[in-house]
Amino acid sequence: MIQERRIILEHLDRAGYTPDLGCYRRHGGYATFERCLALEPAATPEGQTLSGPEQIRLEVRRSGLRGRGGAGFPCGVKWSFVNLDSDRPIYLICNADESEPGTFKDRQIIHKDPHQLIEGILIAAYANRVHQAFIYIRGEFIEGARILDRALDEARGAGLLGRDILGRGYDLEICVHRGAGAYICGEETGLIESLEGRRPYPRIKPPYYPAVLGLYQCPTIVNNVETLCAVKHVAAMGGNEYAKLGVPGDPGTRIVCVSGQVRRPGYFEIEIGKATLGQLIHDLAGGLHPGRSLKAVIPGGSSAKVLRAGEKYKLKFARPDGKEIEREAALLDLPYDSASLAAAGSMCGSGAIVVLDDSASAVEALANIAEFYAHESCGQCTPCREGSLWMHKILQRILRRQGRPADVDNLERIAHNIPGGRTVCAFGEACSWPVQSFVAKFGDEFRQMTAPPP
Ligand code: SF4
Repeated sequence: MIQERRIILEHLDRAGYTPDLGCYRRHGGYATFERCLALEPAATPEGQTLSGPEQIRLEVRRSGLRGRGGAGFPCGVKWSFVNLDSDRPIYLICNADESEPGTFKDRQIIHKDPHQLIEGILIAAYANRVHQAFIYIRGEFIEGARILDRALDEARGAGLLGRDILGRGYDLEICVHRGAGAYICGEETGLIESLEGRRPYPRIKPPYYPAVLGLYQCPTIVNNVETLCAVKHVAAMGGNEYAKLGVPGDPGTRIVCVSGQVRRPGYFEIEIGKATLGQLIHDLAGGLHPGRSLKAVIPGGSSAKVLRAGEKYKLKFARPDGKEIEREAALLDLPYDSASLAAAGSMCGSGAIVVLDDSASAVEALANIAEFYAHESCGQCTPCREGSLWMHKILQRILRRQGRPADVDNLERIAHNIPGGRTVCAFGEACSWPVQSFVAKFGDEFRQMTAPPP
């Protein structure tokens, strides 16, 4: 039976643990940040002298920590794109938009342990010469924004924010900004547009890579809530120790959200690659409802490709440590790590696992997802704006039993013509992958519902 490996969630949900500064400090809170502030210049074995912030950045690079928002880009590499000698201000934005359906972990951290996030922001900001940070929180998270504001006031009162923090000569202010409630605000350049007060139209990359031309055209780091909490633990443990957790190329722990047709939906922190989908669903989320069998799993949020039960998945890839993986695995035997799920044809994405049992209709499930994406397309690019709407309309027609024989082929054609560099942002892929995969895996159900009556 698999157990959780709680690092970020260590204190959450424990009796008596409250989201205030006193409780956080009694549990060792802010000690890592204080140690970071006090770091003296140190020499490397190569004879280089690194300042305190440089040592923190080195540890994050060594840890191999990947972003937990969805794209999985290495955090230390992302930081390295910022020109720290720039004469413009450098901004840090904590992406707390958490809008991928099925994902509900960042909200738990914000509600139950806001100071852990603030400490992560403080360390990341100090490491990258940032003096103004933002927490961009999803518009609907009204209570979360209040909790964060309260926690920031407490931190300010304790000298952990503002000017000359803890008498060490470092200044940082953190501001909470509530979004207006749109999925695309979770896309980093859409988020930046929104933070600047405009509609959240994602920006074209290049040139608008946030590290170069971000908020107010200044270098900007955008990191997700869980990623910034992990930075705190990397700073506490050291990069090499952190990298021992998980699997090579995908180190550390991550918080997965298991929902759908399981008995105990919830969020669980696991060592990456050390639990299979089956262990997550059965050992941690209580398994399926009595008498039901597994139909499919969406392993990384609603935009991830669906994986069908009963199929064999060929895992063939090399880990960064040179280890070759080559074997076949059933759906429930797939290890939960980026490389394994990519080899199986999907992804870990935002860490949201949605379980479908045999009572679920593939057509209904996809229609639900497609309606969401049609509603959330920002409308800037024709293939995404029109294509997501066409797919939604076709699926609604099929659900009403008014489908046409050509509908399944049309769905496939549209879903393959939206992505592939034809759109400004990755939403083109996000709205297409569910359609591509549901139709590929459950084409029989779609064809049955569009067949002409005998
Ligand atoms: Fe907007 Fe879609 Fe284009 Fe992204 S791909 S910019 S969401 S229209």
